[in-house]
Amino acid sequence: VRYCKRLPKIELHAHPNGSIRDSTLLELAQEHDQRGTISSYPNVREIILKEDRSLQECFKLFDVIHVLTTDHSFITRITKEVIEDFAAENVVYLELRTTPKSNVLTGMTKRSYVEAVLAGITKANLVLCENHQLHAHGIQVRLLLSIDRRETTDQAIETVKLALEMKSHGVVGIDLSGNPVTGNWKTFLPALTYARQCGLPVTLHCGEVPVHNPDEVEEMLAFHPDRLGHACVLQESQWERLHNLRIPVEVCFTSNLRTGCVKSICDHHFAWLYKTHYPLVICTDDRGVFSTNLSSEYAIAATSFDLSEHDLFELAKNATRFIFAEEPLKRHLDRIFAGVEPNYR
Ligand code: 5GP
Repeated sequence: VRYCKRLPKIELHAHPNGSIRDSTLLELAQEHDQRGTISSYPNVREIILKEDRSLQECFKLFDVIHVLTTDHSFITRITKEVIEDFAAENVVYLELRTTPKSNVLTGMTKRSYVEAVLAGITKANLVLCENHQLHAHGIQVRLLLSIDRRETTDQAIETVKLALEMKSHGVVGIDLSGNPVTGNWKTFLPALTYARQCGLPVTLHCGEVPVHNPDEVEEMLAFHPDRLGHACVLQESQWERLHNLRIPVEVCFTSNLRTGCVKSICDHHFAWLYKTHYPLVICTDDRGVFSTNLSSEYAIAATSFDLSEHDLFELAKNATRFIFAEEPLKRHLDRIFAGVEPNYR
């Protein structure tokens, strides 16, 4: 784990609301309790502290989290803390993906939500600049806006338009996420197509649950997104198709195991992807919800699939190829990896 922690790393699949520190979540729950804005504090506490959640229990927790994070100041705080946590384990490039939310009660609009996230990024950068000694390489943060599978076509298009307007502020792409047993691919296709036409890269959560909609994976592959999240449950012919398409896969071990998308680490498709030199990147998904971090995910790869330190270094370095950010930033990251001491590679 020490090697994995020191290794410069790229994180491309992280949801801020799934990456909140437990201590912060409990603090926010207490604050809401004092204000009388949640009905049952003990119940909320129990949901926060539960371990080993099923996929559906995770989405129950997300609903609780979203009740707790309705204030702009909370959104800014959690974004800042999430970035600090990634920086502390030597993540040099972080793509956060978050779902813009509106809430009439708190005066939140999708736009003000994204602005609160961007304010969190700015605050984190200020703090990390002051602590330059601790974070030698610094951390570059970019944002993807997520479309939630509960949304309508119009809502999804609104998110894409917002992303386009916010491009100059570090928004670099679009993600499709949310409860995989909800919603229909055809609802989101117009928005995703529009994103592509406007030059915004797209990543899709794909193949998380068996046989929810067997055609969906097929349709997602036909869309040919720029990256795929998870891709755990595919049919034989779809694995073959994926292999030819070479769409980079975001691999999240702990998330896949905790939610039951994959039965055991021995059954994880990483083994096949890695063996066939398939483009992939190791990620955390929800470091708070699943009590993990990126260094631990690299350590899982090492111990479960017998990877050497050099193999881990190559995995981390190759991830720069799949980032959605601009070319000069890719070159900056390449230089960071090129500068790593030879005996450490
Ligand atoms: P947020 O977008 O609010 O920052 O992060 C939490 C949201 O990300 C969840 O409500 C859900 O829509 C999405 N999400 C987080 N983890 C997963 C996952 O493992 N699978 C899917 N499909 N969506 C997820």
